[in-house]
Amino acid sequence: MLTDLDHIRLADRPLVVCDVDDVVLQFATPFEAFLVERGYRLLPRSFKLTGNIVDAADNALDAVAVKDLIHDFFIEQERWQTPFAEAIDSLHALADTADLVFLTAMPPRHAEVRRRLLDRLTLSYPMISSEEPKGPFVAALHGGRPLPVAFIDDMVANLRSVGEHVPDCALVYLPPDVAIFRFAPDPEQHVLRARDWAEARWLIEAHFRR
Ligand SMILES: [Mg+2]
Repeated sequence: MLTDLDHIRLADRPLVVCDVDDVVLQFATPFEAFLVERGYRLLPRSFKLTGNIVDAADNALDAVAVKDLIHDFFIEQERWQTPFAEAIDSLHALADTADLVFLTAMPPRHAEVRRRLLDRLTLSYPMISSEEPKGPFVAALHGGRPLPVAFIDDMVANLRSVGEHVPDCALVYLPPDVAIFRFAPDPEQHVLRARDWAEARWLIEAHFRR
């Protein structure tokens, strides 16, 4: 299953666990374009979708309508979502010396489409699709192995969750360069902040060399 850990076998080497939406594949930018096609707009007023997606009359959509739109977007993700610059090359380079696992926070019913899209982009690394907190997943995956581990995400809450459950994990914050992220909370002090994939890769490789 794409929703549990059973299909993942780690080798005796470092581990990189990587988020997908707005880290490997663009989410916010194509989702805005998708909304326009449906007759809506995303207003960058705060760091959330519900309340900031409005119709032609400027009425904000409720939480159920927003959830339905995200669902529709994920169904059509192969048409909308493209990788960030350097993401694919950086992941290939990291995978030369580390195991790589994608931990994607999307409803599992969209996992097969996501799997197909990643495969088509030559990112055939194992993937788990789950909406549960990420910390327990990384802890279960890595266990107590005496090997370095790194985690990459664009959401501060996910970085915090992994930091709490896997204290020796290098936490890399890689936010996309989009308007709504100006309102995102700052990560905690021990989190490493990367401006782009080249820097994220450098930070992780430096952690593995320590
Ligand atoms: Mg993300």
